Parts: sequence; C-alpha cells; structure tokens
Amino acid sequence: MKRVTRFAPSPTGYLHVGHAYSASLAYRQAVESDGHFLLRIEDIDGTRCRSEFEQGIYEDLNWLGLKWEEPVRRQSEQFEDYAAILERLSEENLIYPCFCTRREIAEEIARSDSAPHGPDGPLYHGTCKQLSDSEREKLFQGNSPYALRLDMDKAMAVPGAQDLTFNELGKGQIACNPAKFGDIVLARKETPTSYHLAVTFDDALQGVNLVVRGQDLFEATHVQRLLQHLLQLPVPDYLHHGLVSDTKGRRLAKRDKGATIRSLREKGYTPEEVMKLAGFGKN
Ligand code: GLU
Repeated sequence: MKRVTRFAPSPTGYLHVGHAYSASLAYRQAVESDGHFLLRIEDIDGTRCRSEFEQGIYEDLNWLGLKWEEPVRRQSEQFEDYAAILERLSEENLIYPCFCTRREIAEEIARSDSAPHGPDGPLYHGTCKQLSDSEREKLFQGNSPYALRLDMDKAMAVPGAQDLTFNELGKGQIACNPAKFGDIVLARKETPTSYHLAVTFDDALQGVNLVVRGQDLFEATHVQRLLQHLLQLPVPDYLHHGLVSDTKGRRLAKRDKGATIRSLREKGYTPEEVMKLAGFGKN
C-alpha cells in the first residue's frame, strides 16, 4: 500500500531531535512504500507562531535530507475551509457557543468537589449548554467573546459513534473513548478552528492514509476519530511512536535549546549523527 504521510509541526520553536525522529519515520514510511510525504505548517495560533521558526523548519528538514511535496499547506491560510466544516457541525446541532471566560471556568471547577478530568485537564461543566436562544442572541449582540464547543453527548448519540476504532500499526484496532474529553473547544470567535478540527480535516483533505506522530498525541486520536465519523471523513491508519528523551530521561521540548537540530548543526554534527541521536540505527 502506498503510504501518504505527513509531518505537521507548529512553528512555535526550533525543531529538536524528537522532531527529526518523527519527520524521518513518516518520510521513510512514504518512501519505502513509493508513496508521498507531506509537510504541513500548523500555525493557527497567531500569538505563538513565528515566521523565523517556520523558516527554521524548512532549513532543518532540508539539512536532514527530507523531501516533501509542494505546496506546503499552511493552516493559517485555510480558515475558510475550517469555517465551512464548522458550519456542517452547526447544522447538525452538534456544537454550541460557550461564553464562559477561562477564569469563570476555573472558578467553577474550583467550586466543585468532583470536577471530572479528561486527558487535557478538567472537563467543562456545561453551563452554556443550558442557555436559551434569546440569551445566546443577547450575548452575541453584546459582542462577547465565545468558543464553539462540541456537544459530546449529542455527538456520542450519532449512530456508530459508540463503536469507533482506529488501526494502530503493529497493535491492531484500538477502541475509542472520545467521551472522556467532554465538550471540547472546536473553534473560537477570533480563530475559526482548533488543533483537533484542523488536523482531522487536513489529514482527510490531503489524503493522508498513515498518521505518524508521537505517543503524546495518542489520546487526541480518540477525539479526531470521532470528528472523522461526524464529518464522514476517511480514516487513516496511525503510528504513534515513542518520544525521544534527553540524557536524564526527560521528554524533549522545544525549550531545550541544546537539543535543537539547529544547535547540533552549529556544533558540527552531521545529519547522520543527529539521526543516530534521535534513535535511528539503534534498532
Ligand atoms: N502540530 C502538532 C504539534 O506540533 C502535531 C500535530 C499532529 O501530528 O497531529 O505537536
């Protein structure tokens, strides 16, 4: 099977050795199956993404010897696409506006003795689900900021949503449990998408049939599988790989300056040596 894979970094920092591993693993899956390797820039968060980091991504991947197909999809240029799929979910009554501020949500959670927790933290308590149409209208008119949340109960009531699975290479079918995420935010007034919505839509649009990414996003797949179901999108296979850690066994992060591909290059490392550091060649 020809694999269409992608590497989808957010330009919020320079790439590190863990990214080198992830990108190369996706690249190899594509090349070895005579498929396609795509690069996608996940830059929906305009406050954290910087063009110098985006340039750094191209430079570092080039230096590692990876070749991707053009044009590169930049999510910040696709907001109309995301607005259109949100509209579909809205027509099916699966999303609702939430006007609670982050502070109000935190206070509500602090007040409650048993706020349920999901993989991304405490779950939203659902206040805005109870708003009447006229209350909603008033808040919209008042120009209040809002988030659009998935109504998880309604989503799980869509036929088939309870029985979703995804294929993890080497492990087989994994049963999904997206309900544990609660009413996740799918968009905000000023940003018509969230990570989950954009990534799910883009993987389908770009024909990605194998999603290679770190184990830290394994839980996210449960939600993304649900969105695929709700939006009737094709379902790729998945390969969640282990994370590269530093010499003390801690997971690498973009703030670990010493482990960036760029700093290793400046210290005189070759691409082969960086790949070895990333873990290739050990197995
Ligand atoms: N953009 C995400 C990140 O930088 C990765 C998205 C994905 O691979 O699904 O962590």
